[in-house]
Amino acid sequence: MTPTDTRIPFNKPGLVGNELDYMRQAVEGGHTSTGGPFTERVVDVLSEWHGSQDVLLTTSCTDALEMSAMMLDIEPGDTVIVPSFTFVTSALAFVRAGARLIFADIEMETLGIDPEHVDALMDDSVRAVIAVHYAGIGCDIAGLQAVLEKWPHADLIEDNAQGLFGTYRGQPLGTFGRFSTISFHETKNFICGEGGALVINRPEDVDRPHTLLDKGTNRRSFLLGQVDKYSWVDTGSSFGLSDILAGYLLGQLEERDSILARRRNVFDAYADALAPLAEQGLVSTPAIPSDRTSSYHMFYVLLADRQTRDAALADLKARGVHGTFHYVPLHSSPGGERFSDRSSDCPRTDEVSGRLLRLPFYNDLATEDVERIARLVSGVVA
Ligand SMILES: *Cc1c(COP(=O)(O)O)cnc(C)c1O
Repeated sequence: MTPTDTRIPFNKPGLVGNELDYMRQAVEGGHTSTGGPFTERVVDVLSEWHGSQDVLLTTSCTDALEMSAMMLDIEPGDTVIVPSFTFVTSALAFVRAGARLIFADIEMETLGIDPEHVDALMDDSVRAVIAVHYAGIGCDIAGLQAVLEKWPHADLIEDNAQGLFGTYRGQPLGTFGRFSTISFHETKNFICGEGGALVINRPEDVDRPHTLLDKGTNRRSFLLGQVDKYSWVDTGSSFGLSDILAGYLLGQLEERDSILARRRNVFDAYADALAPLAEQGLVSTPAIPSDRTSSYHMFYVLLADRQTRDAALADLKARGVHGTFHYVPLHSSPGGERFSDRSSDCPRTDEVSGRLLRLPFYNDLATEDVERIARLVSGVVA
């Protein structure tokens, strides 16, 4: 096997700093459940970045989405607008809280939810609109805000699973919605195996999520000395992240600058290597609008059609390079049809889903490997 034939995985989660030390310290310190010293340190890092009212660490982004759905106190007849082009749980979390779904299409600049389509879908039943910052690039937030201004009973919620440390017009992604949620799943930029966070942007929302996270009890008020014993007061579940995993996560977050710089290098290397194909109109590559900064979560290309995309996937695979497609449209999935309030057309989602190819992306992916992958893509489309 020559060096250029080495296998390239899609993702390579790894240690970057003090993760193992911190996990050991968490175990030796004796507070391994949620709310321990490493949880506090991670919450400080995330609260400071967002300038938010509070941050709660959860076992997943999905859990954080479920908590934000519970906070809406959904009633029969209520709906939530979600992009069809997203991960299942951006939608499922709201179904579990009792909402029916309305699926919106995406715009082509960022593949984020299309404010024009949202505008056309809005009515009195809508309680929330879910924004996803695909690939870590902010969606059209100003467009969504302009629509939502007309509907004060509908909240913006950001599923920011991919966009931690990205910005929109100078402000962190995750600070525009009533809530935002983050993922620390092994496939994301900052990881702890499985993990997530709920970011709270309004002071009146600080109290209740702690009860929801703590099995429906007012244990936090007890710990703060506000009540002399704690009891069952609300609905909830066991959503808190173990302090062992918070230790792992702190090790990652401390290396934030180097992780972001390395991912940016990978992104830029792909953009350079694929520029000739993009100039010929054979592929299109993600553009970061000038008023946004990316978290550099992934690199994708849009090929001419599904046939070309599938051929490129097969060709990469045959050479040991693990590319992959992405979201299968939710609006036409069995779950989407079952849980939607009404059917809606999402033609761009259908079309993009068929011709999008995600390329290997991880912190230490070498530029030579990026160039080799670009040559393989070029061989298929040229
Ligand atoms: C990864 C991801 C999720 C799910 O995150 P988990 O932490 O695995 O629950 C939800 N939404 C989007 C947009 C994602 O990328």
